[in-house]
Amino acid sequence: MCEYCLKHGDGKRWYLQAKNYSDDLLSDLRRRHFIEHFFSHPEELTRDLERMSQMQRLPGMVQRAVSGLVTRRMKRVHFGQVVPAEEIEQILGFVNSVVRVPCICRHITLGREEGYCYGVSLAPNGGKFAEILQALDDSFITGPDTSDFETLTPHEALEAMQAYEPDGLCHTVWTFHAPFIGGICNCDRTDCLAMLATVQHDVKVMFRAEWVAEVDPEACTGCRSCMRVCQFGAIGFSAADQKVRIDPLRCYGCGICRSVCPQDAITLKDRREVPAAAQLW
Ligand code: SF4
Ligand code: SF4
Repeated sequence: MCEYCLKHGDGKRWYLQAKNYSDDLLSDLRRRHFIEHFFSHPEELTRDLERMSQMQRLPGMVQRAVSGLVTRRMKRVHFGQVVPAEEIEQILGFVNSVVRVPCICRHITLGREEGYCYGVSLAPNGGKFAEILQALDDSFITGPDTSDFETLTPHEALEAMQAYEPDGLCHTVWTFHAPFIGGICNCDRTDCLAMLATVQHDVKVMFRAEWVAEVDPEACTGCRSCMRVCQFGAIGFSAADQKVRIDPLRCYGCGICRSVCPQDAITLKDRREVPAAAQLW
């Protein structure tokens, strides 16, 4: 299990613990201020991205030191984890407020408001996190049209997120000051800053899933549909076998490859049962 499970999940999956979505945690003023600041100052994320590109020019030892510092800070304030669809369904089964918001990463990378992110919360009154997001209307980013902030039922949100899977979008949960979880995002490595940071710049800001994908070679027909959607370059094609293989060292366990396999040849295994990947986060 990842260190968050041990620290914030009582040894179970931390993102399936309802208390981590609760209004009690959100009532912390420092946390609320962080959320408001995060959504109101996207230019800070742009600067972070520029810094990460500049880091590539530093000597390797310095890069590793800086990257470690960034990861430690992000684990405190805003860290994510890849989560497969069935666990997204479990999360949506207990939160009672879901609001779709424009993705701050796509705002920066594409200059457009794309509603790929979902604010979720759990509160007796229906969820304060949604209220905070909606209260940001005038200050969110540089004044985009925020009419896209829609309230969805959990079922509608699940259907929308499942519909992203053929395009390879990988589901992730996000803290706003750990352990409060305020959002579910749907990411690809082209547009998402967190994925770019983690995969491309080796600055870890999200954990791998608690799962690893495996292919049944008997069932695989080598169609390569799975390769097209994997954001992590974890799937290779064997010309000799005319089948794919999944590298457990690269697999983040998102399960998106599984959802597009016409042969149902891919399954997710508990990371702890895959020796090569058990300690990889
Ligand atoms: S999508 Fe399924 S059948 Fe096609 S290559 Fe991947 S594992 Fe094999
Ligand atoms: S191989 Fe792993 S990382 Fe790639 S899509 Fe499948 S589950 Fe996700």
